[in-house]
Amino acid sequence: MAGRVVTIDGPSGAGKSTVSRRLAARLGFRYLDTGALYRAVAWSLLESGRKIDEPADVAAAITSLDLAVEPRPDEFVVMVDGKPVGVEVRTSEVSRASSRVSTMAEVRGFLLDYQRDCAEKSDIVAEGRDMGTVVFPGAGLKFWLDAAPEERARRRHLELIGRGETVTYEAVLAATRERDARDRARELAPLRPARDMIVIDATTMSADDVVEDMVSRVGQTWPELKKGLSSVN
Ligand code: C5P
Repeated sequence: MAGRVVTIDGPSGAGKSTVSRRLAARLGFRYLDTGALYRAVAWSLLESGRKIDEPADVAAAITSLDLAVEPRPDEFVVMVDGKPVGVEVRTSEVSRASSRVSTMAEVRGFLLDYQRDCAEKSDIVAEGRDMGTVVFPGAGLKFWLDAAPEERARRRHLELIGRGETVTYEAVLAATRERDARDRARELAPLRPARDMIVIDATTMSADDVVEDMVSRVGQTWPELKKGLSSVN
């Protein structure tokens, strides 16, 4: 971990992606979306028609997976077999599958080096579920971003119908609760805030407000950055 690291962990739909991307742009740090890595693994397994329930099958399949992260300053691009993957990994089916494969030690171990490599060459904002606990335990600043399940489901529902999926709010809320329960109950890297994380409840906050709050914490943690961090509003 050569550069400065800000971690943002929390449940799905809390606004981590929006906030992390904006915070990274504001700080001039690189953005690391680790959920996209888990999604890319799940997507490529589904694409190749493999079963995703058996850890031994998944472990065998990922050894031949050609996964790469393209270094772009403003975006996080995951490549599978040399091609960028984007909206195809954002479907409900891939969400479910990624939550399932992420319980497997084989998958978590496989992705660990990819994630740490990203922090070798630049300052980063890393978002996920276990950034501050497992992947970057020595990070300089750690956040836990949360929001009520109903609000998270509302945002996710809007996102899915905006993308043309036919799905009800109730179904999204049920899926959100199910995914939370699985992420919380798993043995490896369970979803929960650690003691050294700053907890932000974003239920009634806008993304901009959350980013402002985080920027002021960045200034306290790394005073040398303060000068370039005046408000953009
Ligand atoms: O954040 P996102 O919803 O894209 O993540 C997809 C899935 O990947 C999550 O449901 C979670 O189970 C898993 N994940 C994880 N650890 C991370 C990031 C994501 O287990 N660091």
